[in-house]
Amino acid sequence: MKTIGLLGGMSWESTELYYRWINEGVKKRLGGLHSAQIALVSVDFQDIEVMQARGDWDEAGRTLTFAAAQIQAAGADFLVICTNTMHKVAPAITAIIDIPLLHIADATAEHIKAVGLGSVGLLGTSITMEQDFYRGRLSDVHGLNVLIPDDHDRQIIHTVIYEELVLGAVNKESRAAYLRIIDDLVRKGAEGIILGCTEITMLVQQEHTAIPLFDTTALHAQAAVSLALAGD
Ligand code: GLU
Repeated sequence: MKTIGLLGGMSWESTELYYRWINEGVKKRLGGLHSAQIALVSVDFQDIEVMQARGDWDEAGRTLTFAAAQIQAAGADFLVICTNTMHKVAPAITAIIDIPLLHIADATAEHIKAVGLGSVGLLGTSITMEQDFYRGRLSDVHGLNVLIPDDHDRQIIHTVIYEELVLGAVNKESRAAYLRIIDDLVRKGAEGIILGCTEITMLVQQEHTAIPLFDTTALHAQAAVSLALAGD
């Protein structure tokens, strides 16, 4: 079994899910008392959010590269960054570390293509929904047609993430708003919806809608398990 490197804390609410789901996945595959070999470094999200708000991506890149180097030094065989948004600085990290990065957008897109869908709605932070490092990767590298909510609805999705979900708050009104926005994206042609923020899975689950949901936290964790156990 390979050692999975987790770069977490963005937020810890979702890193906790990664830790649980990766261990459950290894236990399911190997049985007995098996659990995952994990090297985890968790950053202070307050600091990261300040850098995001300032648009200081160089500093954010340096901070996460330092954490990734600690993970590598702890013996990880590959790196999992437990957030969609901060994959914005993935190039800065991969330029310095030697272990491979398991990119969250690739893990998600591979699954979507495997189930045969081509048009998907994307929910996440404004950064994730609007910028090329994520949306562009889904379309340019993976050939997916990606639909995003309009300005007003993107603001709702983004605000719920930063004012509720990263604080562990799950509100029924916010779920209803998300489900309404999901329905709008389906009307515009989405065949499924990417939950492209690692905390959205706390708010919206498959039981709440008939539209196929692609939960990046679960798919990324599953991909990490598969990679860790490949060849065993
Ligand atoms: N966890 C979130 C994501 O997947 C948002 C928090 C962050 O800005 O990293 O994008």
